[in-house]
Amino acid sequence: MSTVVVQKFGGTSVGSTERIKRMADRVIQEKKKGHDVVVVVSAMGKTTDALVKMVGDITSEPSKREMDMLLSTGEQVTISLLTMALHQQGVEAISFTGWQAGIQTDSVLGNAHVQSIDTKRIRNELDNGQVVVVAGFQGMTEDGNISTLGRGGSDITAAALASALQADRCEIYTDVDGVYTSDPRFVPKASKITSLSYEDMQNLAIMGAGVLHPRAVKHAKKFGVPLIVKSSFENGRGTMIHGKAKQNGSTPVIGITFEEDINRIELFDCEDIEGLKKALMCELASRHIQADVYKQSCRNILSLLIKKNDHQEVLSILNEGKDKENWVYSRIEGKSGLSKVSAIGQNIKSQPIIKMNMCKILLENAIRVKLVGESAISITAVVEKSQVQLAAERLHTGFGLDYEVVMKASV
Ligand code: ADP
Ligand code: ASP
Ligand code: MG
Repeated sequence: MSTVVVQKFGGTSVGSTERIKRMADRVIQEKKKGHDVVVVVSAMGKTTDALVKMVGDITSEPSKREMDMLLSTGEQVTISLLTMALHQQGVEAISFTGWQAGIQTDSVLGNAHVQSIDTKRIRNELDNGQVVVVAGFQGMTEDGNISTLGRGGSDITAAALASALQADRCEIYTDVDGVYTSDPRFVPKASKITSLSYEDMQNLAIMGAGVLHPRAVKHAKKFGVPLIVKSSFENGRGTMIHGKAKQNGSTPVIGITFEEDINRIELFDCEDIEGLKKALMCELASRHIQADVYKQSCRNILSLLIKKNDHQEVLSILNEGKDKENWVYSRIEGKSGLSKVSAIGQNIKSQPIIKMNMCKILLENAIRVKLVGESAISITAVVEKSQVQLAAERLHTGFGLDYEVVMKASV
């Protein structure tokens, strides 16, 4: 049996028919090396955003089923065009939607999790010498509805398929040449990381490093499939994600991440703050809503930091739960236009100096901090969206992650 290689091309990489033809060349190069190649693609360019915008012209409360029906179409365009581009070059290839590829998900439409993959059909085609091109970001629920995996979900499709097929590696082709210590588009002094453990990558991704979906890292980690993040447009080695985390040297901060468009919901005068926190976290998790929940016990305030797009759903959860035991508070306040900026590192919480330094750097740069939260792997400051880039740049410099400093240290 030959080696399976999974290649994933993101939206920018397949943003035009010209680019699709260039990506077909990359696929062919890999196929010529004698590997079985499975390709996962995203929708072209900003197609998914355009589809979401169209929905806004029709309704503010779309049915989740119809939303997934619509959003899954973007990827379907790319699979057929890429497959035709391969045919045009004399390469045998076949396209599959998520369900044709055997991807079954749970029923949390809009943010579904992959439950299992029946690889029979893909294996048959690979055995027949075909390149298999799969639509990213989608699957099928047990009751036969099309589901989508959440924004950026094509990474998940690629890593989950790579694991199910026990692939040699999963290559993620994108518009940057690897994973950096912060988003290089916002923090120009960010340095490229050549090798990262699954755990460190997962921590960066969970806290906002949008280059990879955190659940993709989880799938790859489970079966030990190496993930390689590379540029679609240049040749280079990219960043290899594999293996266990090493203990860092002098600073445990491995990167600065941020998330824009964060809203805060505060519940005042909670009667049983611990009970409410637990119940809420349980409910949010069952709907796959990511939230940071912090207690300000001295004032009985429970603060939730959520993505702007989840605000309405969180309010509905609070409304539905209002008659439940524990769910007692006097009022709710919401605030939009916030962002989170985080320093990431293993066991960061156990070193209070890092939190102190973070607060000092932000204060010295006149960045107004709304809230500071911490977890085992992150210290997070909530700031106004207008100040998040400045905050990220200053923290990046302050924690010694700037390109020149890292280069000097490695000489
Ligand atoms: P694709 O469409 O290929 O999936 P994405 O836009 O999802 O591409 O991811 C690539 C983008 O991730 C980059 O353009 C970059 O701006 C952003 N990014 C955020 N954090 C990081 C990071 N730590 N390292 C590299 N890129 C990052
Ligand atoms: N097309 C989807 C999105 O824009 C999935 C992806 O690109 O990974 O979120
Ligand atoms: Mg992406």
